[in-house]
Amino acid sequence: MPRHIVCLTFDHDHVSGLIARGMTSPTAISRGEYDIVVIPRLIALLERYGIKATFFTPGHTIDSTPGAVTPYVEAGHELAHHGWTHRLPVNLSRDEEEEEIVRGNESIKRISGRTARGYRSPAWDLSPHSIDLLLKHGIQYDSSLMGNDYECYYARQGDVAELMKPLVRGHETALVEMPISWSLDDYPAFEYMRLPNGSVQQGLMNATAVLENFVDDFTYMTRVCDYGILTYTFHPHVIGRGHRMMMLERLIQRLIEGGAVFMTMEAAMQDWLARRRGIAKAAE
Ligand SMILES: [Zn+2]
Repeated sequence: MPRHIVCLTFDHDHVSGLIARGMTSPTAISRGEYDIVVIPRLIALLERYGIKATFFTPGHTIDSTPGAVTPYVEAGHELAHHGWTHRLPVNLSRDEEEEEIVRGNESIKRISGRTARGYRSPAWDLSPHSIDLLLKHGIQYDSSLMGNDYECYYARQGDVAELMKPLVRGHETALVEMPISWSLDDYPAFEYMRLPNGSVQQGLMNATAVLENFVDDFTYMTRVCDYGILTYTFHPHVIGRGHRMMMLERLIQRLIEGGAVFMTMEAAMQDWLARRRGIAKAAE
């Protein structure tokens, strides 16, 4: 019996990502806090289709606007870890990175009663210390790597990647990796950004064209796998514009027509682990 799981995930950056990039003007702040308008609409949309989603929320967001976070926690969506400041782990020392994980978990526990099971790195850039630190602080899955499309895997640690030598792969850890891709993220597709360094992210793509890409990645999964998990990434302040919310609803409808089973990341991880145990048992 085929089983095709979809995880809808929302990175609730609010103003944290802008501040971490040095963008603190009133206009930049307003751009991030537009998500306060969007979140009740998102919750209503998910409710309409009976979908539970995962929100990756920085501690900075939780502590700056708890009133925007509580409604999705109370609606039964998963609250997962996305750093505290939204700085990239790859730019931090080990101690700074650990402080981010600890402080983020404190914010998550204060608002939801428990610490995070899942983690997604700001801008998907892990450091060489990340896997070790995540396991140390009770994180069970990560969603920052791109080494597969429809299958989870165990994250590796201790790779040696040097310019003039072949790659030496490290060892597998117990951390479940739930892979993602920039091609299934609303941010590069839609968000126009002029960064302080002068570079421009064009974004502003036609939503129907992006919808077709997103649907085709699901359809392809149904052709090449009997069992698969596909993760989409959205940002409330990006997907929240009218034409994109209409695209998101059409995406949900098309995925339902295609037989998608919607789950939180945590539930999908448990499903994947249970299936692996079943396969191992059958092989005994
Ligand atoms: Zn983010």
